[in-house]
Order: sequence, then structure tokens, then C-alpha cells
Amino acid sequence: MARRLASCPGPAVEIPDAARARRFARDLLDWHAVHGRHDLPWQLDPTPYRVWISEIMLQQTQVSAAIPYYRRFLRRFPSLERLAAADVDDVMHQWSGLGYYARARNLHRAAGIVMREFGGKFPDNLDAIMSLPGIGRSTAGAILAFCHGQRHPILDGNVKRVLARCFAVPGYPGDAPVANVLWELSDRLTPEKGVAQYTQAIMDLGATVCTRSRPDCDACPLVTDCLAFEQGDPAAYPGRRAKPERPLREVQMLLIEDAAGNVLLEKRPPTGIWGGLWSLPEAPAGKRRPACPLPGVRMLAAGPDPEPLRHGFTHFELLIRPRRYRLTGPVDGVMDGDSHLWYNPLEPQPVGLPAAIRRLLSGVHG
Ligand code: SF4
Repeated sequence: MARRLASCPGPAVEIPDAARARRFARDLLDWHAVHGRHDLPWQLDPTPYRVWISEIMLQQTQVSAAIPYYRRFLRRFPSLERLAAADVDDVMHQWSGLGYYARARNLHRAAGIVMREFGGKFPDNLDAIMSLPGIGRSTAGAILAFCHGQRHPILDGNVKRVLARCFAVPGYPGDAPVANVLWELSDRLTPEKGVAQYTQAIMDLGATVCTRSRPDCDACPLVTDCLAFEQGDPAAYPGRRAKPERPLREVQMLLIEDAAGNVLLEKRPPTGIWGGLWSLPEAPAGKRRPACPLPGVRMLAAGPDPEPLRHGFTHFELLIRPRRYRLTGPVDGVMDGDSHLWYNPLEPQPVGLPAAIRRLLSGVHG
């Protein structure tokens, strides 16, 4: 019978006793031995640094999409020392295309902190790891499980989905009472032994079998105990957040070319949308004659303008109206290379660009 967990307020669920928890772990481990993923690049030599990079990449990116980025990132920054010593622009460049750029900034900051405050050694306890920017409880737990065999529950998106379905946990996991119940379940189910394999197994099951829209219950080792399967509608779990309509914002982006066909880029402030990346100069929507951002320089409209572009952010939708301009003469004086640069779309410099800007630039001479 469903009941409330004594340790946390939240939805009533069926509490697994010790025997059920053992069966859950054993079924997962048996399944994983045959069907799990065993040769992912970060599994071959699971050092804290390599596992940390992979866990951060996988927060918002599927394994197949993350692998080429992971390999490139590790080639460029093969060690924590190299990452800490790197220019943040270079880190952003390696991250270009993966999105959620705060992750890359936090990796770079955290590497610096490990070098300064932990003597260059990635910490091996939960609180210390969670004190680093960009690392939450689940990521810290996964690093410790994979690299040190320490027993910590995890609760990434895949695990939330498996647990919400198996135990028919109602509600949206982003709400604290629901999250508390899921954490409690994850803790009760995590075994003392074989924690690294178990952690990988439950992640893999969520990624490959208990998928978001079409769970393959026939192939699932947990099917006999799964309450969502028994109810006949696994996809009803986990509950979704009521979605407010995303507001639409509009902006003009200026494709300003010099005589050689180079395009003017501006560096965005370190925080906020596309923080620290290079982008096009902007002007308010509807402004008819925007000024050139370089002082004392004039420009002329040089259409035809490219088609408008829509880009979705978490909290709003951005409608970008690109406008083409060309300079009327040479640029006098020295340009501040930290805030502006001339970008050659035919021979691109290695700078961090948001995907939407990359798309606009690829059409300049295309
Ligand atoms: S039986 Fe289906 S819904 Fe339940 S955990 Fe397995 S795949 Fe997910």
C-alpha cells in the first residue's frame, strides 16, 4: 500500500523494503552485464577529471552527441592542470555547439579552484565536490561512485524517470517535495556493493530502455515490479510542469562587413545569455538607422538581409532580424581586441560562437 515517507513530505508512494531494494539492484546489474554500455570513452580510464567532464557534458546532451565533443575537449585539455591554465575563450570555443555555456565557464572556474584550493587533486568527498561551481549532488555522487566506488545515490534525468515510473511517483520532479521522495527512493535502492556498476546500470536503463516517450517495457528487467507499467501508461510519469507560454523577444543583429568581407563581432558580457561568447552587434527591434558600434566609423545598409531566425532559450524565444551593412571607409585607430574582432567567415578564427550566430555567419558568403 502506498504511504508517505516518514523522512520527507511529498506524494505517497510504495516504499521498497530491503528485499525489494535488493531485487531491484540485482535485476539492474544482471541486465547491465549483458545490455549495458561498457566502452564509452570516459569509462575506459575513469579518472575523476575525465568522469567529471563527461558528467557535465551529459547533463544536457545525449551520449552519442557528446562523444565527439568529449574526445575533442580531452585532446585539447588532457588534464585538469591544462584546463585550469587555458584561456576561457579557448574553453568556450571547444564547447561551441553543445549549448548551455555556463557549464563550460563553470568547468574552467572549478578547475582553477581545484588547482588553488585542493592542491591540484580533484576532491574525493561529496561536500568538497559539491562546493565546486556547476556540480550538484547527483553529479558529485556519480563521480565518487565511478571513480572511488563510494556509495552515493544519484538522481539525474534518466534516474528520475526510472524511479518515478517504477514507483508511480506522481508530480513534477522539479518540485521539491517530489524531488525529496525520488532522492529517498534512490538512496534506499542504491546497493552497498557494486555501486559503480549499479549507477551506470540505472543511467543506461533510463537512456536506452525506459526512454522519455517510448519505453521498451518488454525489454526491461524491472517490468515485473513496475507500477507505471501495471497502470498501463508509463509515459504519464514523471509528471510535467505546467508550461507557461514563452514570451517572444525581437532584436536586430548587425552583419557589418569591412572591405575584405570580414564581419564585426562583439564579445558578450561574462554573465547572461551567451555569456562570454562572441556575437554580432545588436540594435533594438525597429530601430531604422543603428549606429556602428566602432566609434567614428560610418556604415551603409548593404542588403539583401538574410531571413529572420528564431532561437529558443529556456525562458523566452528570440526572433533575430539580421541586417547587412558595410563600412564606408577604413577603421581609424586600434580596435580593442578583447571586445571586438573582425571575423573571417571563410577562414574562421577559433572563438566561441553560439550556434545561432554560427548559422548566420555561415550564410554570409555562402
Ligand atoms: S517497465 Fe517500462 S516504464 Fe517500467 S521501468 Fe521498465 S521501461 Fe520503464
